[in-house]
Amino acid sequence: SPSTHPGTTDAPASAALLERAARVIPGAVNSPVRAFRAVGGTPRFIREAKGPWLTDADGRRYVDLLCSWGPMILGHAHPDVLAAVDEAARRGFSFGTPSENEVLLAEEIVDRIEPLEQVRLVSSGTEATMSAVRLARGVTGRSVIVKFAGCYHGHVDALLAAAGSGVATLALPDSAGVPTEMTSDTIVLPYNDIAALEETFAARGPEIAAVITEAAAGNMGVVPPAPGFTDALRRITREHGALLISDEVMTGFRCSRAGWFGLEGEAGYAAGAPDIFTFGKVMGGGFPAAAFGGTAEVMGHLAPQGPVYQAGTLSGNPVATAAGLATLKGCTPELYPRLEATARTIADAASAALSAEGVAHTVQWAGSMFSVFFREAPVTNYDDARDQDTAAYGRFFHAMLDAGVHLPPSAFEAWFVSGAHDDEAVGVILDALPAAAKAAAS
Ligand code: PLP
Repeated sequence: SPSTHPGTTDAPASAALLERAARVIPGAVNSPVRAFRAVGGTPRFIREAKGPWLTDADGRRYVDLLCSWGPMILGHAHPDVLAAVDEAARRGFSFGTPSENEVLLAEEIVDRIEPLEQVRLVSSGTEATMSAVRLARGVTGRSVIVKFAGCYHGHVDALLAAAGSGVATLALPDSAGVPTEMTSDTIVLPYNDIAALEETFAARGPEIAAVITEAAAGNMGVVPPAPGFTDALRRITREHGALLISDEVMTGFRCSRAGWFGLEGEAGYAAGAPDIFTFGKVMGGGFPAAAFGGTAEVMGHLAPQGPVYQAGTLSGNPVATAAGLATLKGCTPELYPRLEATARTIADAASAALSAEGVAHTVQWAGSMFSVFFREAPVTNYDDARDQDTAAYGRFFHAMLDAGVHLPPSAFEAWFVSGAHDDEAVGVILDALPAAAKAAAS
């Protein structure tokens, strides 16, 4: 069973903290995927992080390929971000009034993504997608939301539905505590399936408020939209008067300075831009800051201007926005080729090591985001993603962890690099791979 994985004995201080945590925190973690349930063993309690390195409660160092699930694109405790946070915090932690940093961060985001005119700042990706869905329903006066299996948009009731393949499946809730009524207006379709989308709109078009999609899927592992898929989303939604919500919480400012929108560019968005974008992760630089945005016309439906209510005590927090702004300033055009080169080096070495041991695998990309799937064939949707050798990934993960490399503790996640991943950090990864591939093969 996963919980008896030998990795448990290698981290006594983490194991002790885990035991204490289990008494006062449900499942010992504040976000389920941190629990190592999928790979077994003891999650490392991290006490410090700098650049590409994590240091755990036992004082062991790991090269970080988790990057806090995406935000830490410049590496941990980057000096410029630290200085901005320090400077902002000295001027107070939260005002509950408008403040300049909110304007600066909103301007920075709007400058990067051409069709964006306005953004509303919130504190998490979940809040951003929840608000985007409400806005889309408010703008259109319709109820139904279409999402894709395997896409994660945070723990929003209406979006916690991923089950059901086939055409126009009426989704069942994925979580207890989500009444059927909360997902009865959610239709789940297979990712990258234009025909399914067309059939659904032909049948129920006038009811559909919006299609929400991960701009490039990262939450079933990295599954980029197939050529023509993004364009079809835009074309079909527009034909039927529905909005298109592009969730760039993970890809935003990560795949390029303008996110997936900037990367796929003309080819993907020839039929037009999404109506609403959502952002999080990188734009908070490790602090709770997220956003949703669109044209001034669409965003004008929000209170206090319009009838769609949305609010937050800590929205646009002065310290979080300072961190986000400093992080985005560090997201220069030069950063992205560097991230991609680092990621390429790691992925190529992983692939070579796995091939040498005869382990079936395939690597998929969205900018510098990548996943190693433990199966031979390419992955185009959630059914494909689930059809992989997760036990082999678990063995690979633990061998890497033992050698000082912290991968995501799940086979269904992207691997993230940062601008701080230098030759030393990459060297540790390359050295660890052959034994990890052997473990995967065993
Ligand atoms: N949307 C996407 C694409 C995400 O990857 C995530 C988080 O992983 C979310 C939304 C939810 O963001 P948060 O965890 O900040 O609520």
